[in-house]
Amino acid sequence: MGDVVSWVGRRLQPLRDFLFPPLCFSCNERLRDGEVRVCPLCWGSLSLVSENDDTHKILSGRFALGGAIDGFWSYCYFEHGGVFQKLAHALKYEGVTWCGVEFGRRLAAVLPHDLTIDGIVPVPLHTVRLRERGYNQSEHICRGIHELLHTAIMPSLLRRVKNTVTQTHLTADQRKHNIEAAFTISGDASAIRDRTFLLVDDIITTGSTLQEAAAVLKQAGAAHVYVASAGLAQLEK
Ligand SMILES: [Zn+2]
Repeated sequence: MGDVVSWVGRRLQPLRDFLFPPLCFSCNERLRDGEVRVCPLCWGSLSLVSENDDTHKILSGRFALGGAIDGFWSYCYFEHGGVFQKLAHALKYEGVTWCGVEFGRRLAAVLPHDLTIDGIVPVPLHTVRLRERGYNQSEHICRGIHELLHTAIMPSLLRRVKNTVTQTHLTADQRKHNIEAAFTISGDASAIRDRTFLLVDDIITTGSTLQEAAAVLKQAGAAHVYVASAGLAQLEK
């Protein structure tokens, strides 16, 4: 039955495209053949992160000082009113999970080719937040990374034990305090010792959440913890 339904679905696709032409999720312009969900102009409008940028250098310095994060990669900058903000908002609050997978694919493509990791770990949500939202947006980014790296996703290795308040309006110091002791190991601790992990978040703002989560993995014996995020907030010099 399912085969018949999907056969009919495939046969009806051209008619459906004619009646309801596929539009770019971001700008609503009509997509051309071969374009999926977001048009190339919208993707092209994103400001991609380079390791030579001031923000990247400042954060790298901060992470090196903290001692828990051994390196990080982000795909693009967060810009108010920009395409990234729209897609990231849809991913986080509107259940548009394919945005996460697509960001994960793009993020995986900017990771160093010689990067070897033992597990991809999404920054966990507190169970209360997870129940409200129904999904962890970072886990969908992990899925996109997994498609390229084929490394296992470990969504239950870390647990968020503190239901932190939304950090959007907090200062850097307040964020640090807010996130303290927020994570613990919930999976098999022997799976952490001497292993290397890629911690994944949707956006890095000050990096305090990731530093806290990475420190917990390091305390449990992780050899290296790298970090990857879809978005990166510009830092003031
Ligand atoms: Zn577009």
